[in-house]
Amino acid sequence: MVLLLFGPPGSGKGTQSRLITNWLGIPAISTGDMLRAEIQAGTPLGNAARSIMASGGLVGDDLVNETLAHRVSQPDCNAGFLLDGYPRTVEQAEFLDRLLCLRGFPKPIVLHLDVPMDALVGRMSSRRQCPACKRIYNLLHQPPLQTGICDDDGNALITRKDDREDVVRERLRTYDALTRPVLAHYQDNNYYQIRGDRSPSYIFEEITGILEPLIAKHSAANDR
Ligand code: ADP
Repeated sequence: MVLLLFGPPGSGKGTQSRLITNWLGIPAISTGDMLRAEIQAGTPLGNAARSIMASGGLVGDDLVNETLAHRVSQPDCNAGFLLDGYPRTVEQAEFLDRLLCLRGFPKPIVLHLDVPMDALVGRMSSRRQCPACKRIYNLLHQPPLQTGICDDDGNALITRKDDREDVVRERLRTYDALTRPVLAHYQDNNYYQIRGDRSPSYIFEEITGILEPLIAKHSAANDR
């Protein structure tokens, strides 16, 4: 099973991707986390991505596609995977179609977390992330147990550089111009719209309600 978590920056994709991974045991692949790791490691890709990400734009399709293709060719992806933050352009969606077809994967199931734009800026400025395990917190709704410290591994939480308000606004503009059109690519097939302006546990319940019948259908087909 290939899942795509789709939605604007700050719509809760990272939070849901962690819950889904724990539930289904498939890896969650975040192109944003992968690019940040490349920046930290100082690789040529990281150096190319750094200023683009800091300004709220999108890293070039070829670079991201290549990185993604390499990641999904790892053995832990053989039984399926979840994509968070990819595809973000129509070109990336077309590349993913070809990649999935080539590797014998089914068409993706698209979960679209829809959140009104005006709720997103506030959400992102109160967002914190663990630099080690990438878990996401929100100071307003999902604070860590101990201020500034990750519940899971005790590392000090950070604010991402691109969560500054001016950069957030640019990321939202980029989403509207380049990423929202990707929805038209998927709307006819396995597409589910979910209201993302509710609590993470409520949203997760809705996601399990969508996926359980699909998983049951899939395993019944495999038993035949
Ligand atoms: P968010 O979804 O909250 O914007 P991400 O961590 O997914 O956060 O992405 C952060 C930044 O990384 C994006 O603004 C963009 O510059 C870059 N990025 C992530 N995924 C992609 C992608 N698929 N294509 C191009 N750039 C990407």
